[in-house]
Amino acid sequence: MNDYQPTSNLRIIRAAATRIGCGAEEYRDRRAAGEKWCGGCRAWHPRADFAANRSSSDGLATICRVSKSAYDADYYRDRRKLRQPYPGNAARWRTTAARHERRGSGG
Ligand SMILES: [Zn+2]
Repeated sequence: MNDYQPTSNLRIIRAAATRIGCGAEEYRDRRAAGEKWCGGCRAWHPRADFAANRSSSDGLATICRVSKSAYDADYYRDRRKLRQPYPGNAARWRTTAARHERRGSGG
């Protein structure tokens, strides 16, 4: 996995280039220059920006480390959201709770 070689199969290059919206030549050149497309930022980064992922075809994660940490943060935020008693964000929950409280106090 250490000496990764970009594919020279034009069909694979064309398909990959189409998927990310760039030309096959640009795709091939970027890969040859040691860059990798980041599905999170939707931009090219140096391969060093990607964490290792042994299950992927090129041995690297499909999104860069920055995207990954942002993705993870979102994931955990969503998990916390699920634990809230009312669907929606915390501010909305507080507003609803306050309204109920006022109504309940009879004032
Ligand atoms: Zn990225």
